[in-house]
Amino acid sequence: QLILGIETSCDETAVAIIKNGQEIAANVVASQIESHKRFGGVVPEIASRHHVEQITIVLEEALKQANVTMAEIDAIAVTEGPGLVGALLIGVNAAKALAFAHQKPLVPVHHIAGHIYANWLVTELQFPLLALVVSGGHTELVYMKEHGHFEVIGETRDDAAGEAYDKVARVLNMPYPGGPHIDRLAHEGSPTIDLPRAWLEDGSYDFSFSGLKSAVINTVHNAEQRGETIPPENLAASFQASVIDVLVKKTMDAVAEYRVKQVVVAGGVAANKGLRSALEEAFSGSEIDLVIPPLSLCTDNAAMIAAAGSVMFEKGIRAGMTLNANPGLDIQIFNHDDLS
Ligand code: ATP
Ligand code: MG
Ligand code: FE
Repeated sequence: QLILGIETSCDETAVAIIKNGQEIAANVVASQIESHKRFGGVVPEIASRHHVEQITIVLEEALKQANVTMAEIDAIAVTEGPGLVGALLIGVNAAKALAFAHQKPLVPVHHIAGHIYANWLVTELQFPLLALVVSGGHTELVYMKEHGHFEVIGETRDDAAGEAYDKVARVLNMPYPGGPHIDRLAHEGSPTIDLPRAWLEDGSYDFSFSGLKSAVINTVHNAEQRGETIPPENLAASFQASVIDVLVKKTMDAVAEYRVKQVVVAGGVAANKGLRSALEEAFSGSEIDLVIPPLSLCTDNAAMIAAAGSVMFEKGIRAGMTLNANPGLDIQIFNHDDLS
């Protein structure tokens, strides 16, 4: 089985070809980071324009890498949402055109389901599992009792983890995206500043990072007013420690309550060295299998979309020529037990 995946939800134009759900035959990503950097974030109109320019080139490169023709592809999987509507539309329309021209089934994929399935490209999934999703737009704990079934047991009430990283980085005058810069800086400092940890109500698996972000900004401004400077590496280390403490504690609590066999980590913030080592330490000696994808599969790519698409394809999920981009798509929409 060969699935062609297309991902254009944000600022990466990506096409991949996956064999039997798990084997990468091609994985091409055209990043737009350089174009958005000078604006300090992703500019939606620029993102759409780049996707239009790149999509055909990236598609042809992927077919060449995999050494296959469109005739050999079994289905086309595409990110339907969530994401930037104008960006999503380019991928959705490209997928529809390909599906129509080559008479192939079209499979809609949820972007976060894709991030989770990046782990399936690394190892077999063991159910029930818990996914810690930490990306630019999402911070969630997702319980999966089986393939293709997603239950959100906790989510952020305000900023996502990656968003908090990017905003704090801006205060520290670092380029976009700030996550990797803060991560690097944090390892040069110590967590000397006492920053809040939003545990929320007892037993809640929800997250909140906006209070932490404000605390960092206030700390910087108050110091400036006193004519002092706080070593940025200590600020970065303190911020990172607060984020990681909450992510790890909530994950451990959920693991205990839901009795899962495996924990998988997903999204761009899963590339964070501090988070990776904190999770590895927390699960060392435990019977629960911890999986963290390699960095290239943590950030946006189409291999993960094709992997999730392969499962959705097997579940019988199809879209017609009326498929539209859905920026607010719910991951739980495909939880039909009758289809599994
Ligand atoms: P979503 O998947 O929620 O739609 P997105 O696709 O924009 O959002 P991703 O591509 O998964 O998000 O991740 C990008 C985010 O990951 C950015 O916020 C970036 O700062 C963050 N990030 C990348 N590397 C690191 C790192 N080493 N430490 C912390 N954050 C990181
Ligand atoms: Mg991106
Ligand atoms: Fe993403």
